[in-house]
Amino acid sequence: MYGYAGTILRIDLSSGTIEKQPLDENLAERFIGGRGFVAKLLFDELPRGIDPYDAQNLFIAATGPLSGHLVPASGKTHFGTKSPATGGYADSNMGGHFGPALKYAGYDVLLLTGCAPAPSYLFIEDGQVEIRPADAYWGQGALIAEKNMKTDLGEDFQVLTIGPAGEQRVRYACLSHDFGRQAGRSGVGAVLGSKRIKAIAVRGTGSLPVFDVKKAFAAGKDAFKKVSAKPGFTEWTPEGTAGITNWVNEVGVFPTRNFKTSFSDHYEEINGKAILKKLKITDKGCYCCPTPCGKYGHTRTKLGDAYVEGPEYETIALFGGNCELKTIEEVAYANYLCDELGLDTISAGAVISWTIECFEKGLLGEKEIGRPVKFSDLETVDYLLEKIVAREGIGDLLAEGVKKAAEKVGQGSDAFAIHVKGLEWTGYECRNAPSMMLAYMTADIGAHHARAWVLGHDMAGAWTNVHDLVSGGGTVERQPPAQIKADSARFVIDSQHTRPLFDALGICRLQLMELGFEVENYEELFHHITGKKRTWKEMLGVSERIWNLTRAISAREIEGFGRCWDFPPERFSTEPIPSGPNEGYFIPKESLEQLLDWYYAARGWDTNGLPTRETLVRLGLEDVADVLRVEGVPIS
Ligand code: SF4
Repeated sequence: MYGYAGTILRIDLSSGTIEKQPLDENLAERFIGGRGFVAKLLFDELPRGIDPYDAQNLFIAATGPLSGHLVPASGKTHFGTKSPATGGYADSNMGGHFGPALKYAGYDVLLLTGCAPAPSYLFIEDGQVEIRPADAYWGQGALIAEKNMKTDLGEDFQVLTIGPAGEQRVRYACLSHDFGRQAGRSGVGAVLGSKRIKAIAVRGTGSLPVFDVKKAFAAGKDAFKKVSAKPGFTEWTPEGTAGITNWVNEVGVFPTRNFKTSFSDHYEEINGKAILKKLKITDKGCYCCPTPCGKYGHTRTKLGDAYVEGPEYETIALFGGNCELKTIEEVAYANYLCDELGLDTISAGAVISWTIECFEKGLLGEKEIGRPVKFSDLETVDYLLEKIVAREGIGDLLAEGVKKAAEKVGQGSDAFAIHVKGLEWTGYECRNAPSMMLAYMTADIGAHHARAWVLGHDMAGAWTNVHDLVSGGGTVERQPPAQIKADSARFVIDSQHTRPLFDALGICRLQLMELGFEVENYEELFHHITGKKRTWKEMLGVSERIWNLTRAISAREIEGFGRCWDFPPERFSTEPIPSGPNEGYFIPKESLEQLLDWYYAARGWDTNGLPTRETLVRLGLEDVADVLRVEGVPIS
């Protein structure tokens, strides 16, 4: 099968059985790869209703047909499981070099079941696959373990690790790779830790079958030239995602003090330019990437100094805005701590800012927390991170994530526990951005921006091209009130099909989304590599199929799943923003209901937000509709 390595590697960690299964052509045709493979395998093979930490949970690493080929930014790997954060469908994406190495070793997918009897790591070198003891690495930080493993095995191994957070099953533990690339969301690292797998080391020396090598090579070379010639190329690359900090703040969507408000006074101390001035040593990119957005640098704070990749925009938003750390050095140090401990910086920042607000409101005191905590205080961040990862004292509660923690603390603390479905909210405050609010509400893994980034739709005029986004508007002005519009639903849905399609193809989306690299180039590359002529529109149809499948998985796994799982916390519908360009705005519950009505209707879902049988059949998912009916999931 052109483009693919052709094999699924299955490992039962309990029995030690290793099986190599040919990749099914029909699976590739209907679900493309990456995220599509994750969704289909989870739906077919996940035992219904198990605890995410049950040994029977699956851990899947999947590449796409373009991963590892001469395609701009083809180093992405997709991971999937049943989420310990939400209890539903989970996936998370990671850059670096791991996916290409897995394919060169001969595998499109690595699927783990069971639980190793003792701490272990997976050794994969082409056809040689072993489960090896990991006593020497267990307990080590994610970055240190990667370094040590590369020293022991060889620098050319691509190594994925978890940190102590994954070992301790913190529900937002991440996977770490390449000293700064993470699959951060949904607790995928906690599931790997629950299987007692500290790391996966891969070295692949094989090659991949290509339908038309000459044309694929020529198209690949041409694609690199075209990306480099895009006007946004020289603006986007220097600062990476941190470059949007000014714009986000100036239009008043920058999460500040646990999403209390949406504007920060000190944003110029923590933006992309501050990284270049105070931290950066070099650019760092993923496999085959012409636009290296990673910034590798050094930070020095009163708590210590560290080498770190980042911070990316999301980390700036959650630690610089939400926890209000005042300097880029402090934000970078918090980033380093999370990387080493193996924590998602987004969820960790959200949990900490919620804890501080609870303390300010007197809902958690010194007795429960162990000391006073406050915003703008690196020591607070350091203290709470240590507690969380040790699951010690208050840390045991906070390791469960904001939703579960708020359920325990009660006293109205859920109103400002900022999440959807149990996954903490990322770096955009949406009380004057209804389309983006809808995108968060309906994202399949919980509150995540990468499924649909539609702020431009809410803020027509504030963003027309990458220049506005990276440079910032330059002025902080009161924003006009955004309208609740029926076309928001269509806009969000289209974006939910476009962005995740890259996760199925196994490549980075930034070249298309941020630089405007044309879809025709991907159609051409896909054809020359796989031999299949598929239009972008047809591939978006597959993406829609995958989206409905992931919704079906959550409907099956979460009791009572449906509309009530799609709402943001009460703060966003009852509390006006107290300051900044969007002062006074909020989105009342009736408007949120209206947005959901439009969205469900446009998707062909029922009013409870479940795909109807008719929609599933239209998308070629009749078998899924049959399973849901037999299992008693109430689809109409
Ligand atoms: Fe990786 Fe950034 Fe390049 Fe995307 S743009 S492949 S995230 S370095």
